[in-house]
Amino acid sequence: MDMEEVIKSLWIRNDKKILLIVMDGIGGLPVVDGKTELEAAHTPNLDELAFRSVLGFSHPVGRGITPGSGPGHLGIFGYDPLKYEIGRGILEALGVGVDVNDKDVAVRGNFATIKGGKIVDRRAGRIPTEENKKICAYLSEKIKEIDGIEIFIYPGEEHRFVLILRGDGLYDEVEDADPQETGLPPKPARATDPRSELTARIANKFIEKVTELLKDRHPANTVLLRGFARHPHLPSMEELYGLRALGVADYPMYRGLAKLVGMDVPYIEHGLDNEIKLFKEMWGKYDFVYFHLKKTDSYGEDGNFQKKISLIEEFDSKLPEILSVKPDVVAITGDHSTPSLLKAHSWHPVPVLLYSPYIRPDTTTRFTESEAAKGGLGHLCAKEILPLLLANALRLKKFGA
Ligand code: ZN
Repeated sequence: MDMEEVIKSLWIRNDKKILLIVMDGIGGLPVVDGKTELEAAHTPNLDELAFRSVLGFSHPVGRGITPGSGPGHLGIFGYDPLKYEIGRGILEALGVGVDVNDKDVAVRGNFATIKGGKIVDRRAGRIPTEENKKICAYLSEKIKEIDGIEIFIYPGEEHRFVLILRGDGLYDEVEDADPQETGLPPKPARATDPRSELTARIANKFIEKVTELLKDRHPANTVLLRGFARHPHLPSMEELYGLRALGVADYPMYRGLAKLVGMDVPYIEHGLDNEIKLFKEMWGKYDFVYFHLKKTDSYGEDGNFQKKISLIEEFDSKLPEILSVKPDVVAITGDHSTPSLLKAHSWHPVPVLLYSPYIRPDTTTRFTESEAAKGGLGHLCAKEILPLLLANALRLKKFGA
């Protein structure tokens, strides 16, 4: 029996409610006066909550591993990111806001340039996004299905697009249809196991049709296809943890990740106020709410220390309104660190805060990296957070006699 099976055998239902707030990329490194973003921010409400809570560090995937937001989120949703992989094509599809369904194979596409039978530019001169949209609309009009498999084409940024193949019998053991280098002939999609041959055949017919349709559209006159990935078919949070779960997120990728684990995720426009409005309306109907804050990661990636601080302060000012629903259990953490010093995701563990009436208090007084280092939770694997939330909501029975 692994931990997942143990938890699955122990959960019970009750009326206790759990709130999990994910501040994307929240962990930082010292930049000004030896302080991180969380340490430099003025956060009276977070401080007050930290005083009543227990803190520690969460390792999203494993020590030393820098995670993407996909595995980072799976961990905090209680799924082992090494056991459940979400393929590149699916992540790309979620990123552009495509709903993936369980008969889909999702693929990342590039518009590229072919000349004299060779790929001469793998990105078609990075065509403008507007041009990309026009080409995708044209192709969507011309190619709706191939041999009974439905075809959907969605534009991304510049030369990128997402291709969805939908139908019975599609598998994703298919090598990239991309020579990786210029000056080589196009490489067809090739199945690496027999059941994926249908997918490879459809992909190759798609490339052939597109290349014919785009032959006068230099520089975007062919396509490369990569990252073939099937819908990951994850067990839902309801199955694994007995939780009716709601996702509150205003960016497509995070809505998509939440849907993959079976959360209800209503559409909202961007903005913290829209998130809070939805959260307050829906809170009463669910056992568990995932509340996502995106911009902390964006400002970290921009290397914008001050903006990341401002966003933390804005969130802090709204925290009392969020907590006014009186959750029984609250956790605040991130899916990974994004220090503005590195302008990128990093391997550093992420502060995690846990509040419930049943915690052992520690001496922490702020939600910061230096306080987390002193906290009573110590160092956790992200996937251990959810069982702790269930326990604190008195939703886990005793294990063994
Ligand atoms: Zn992230």
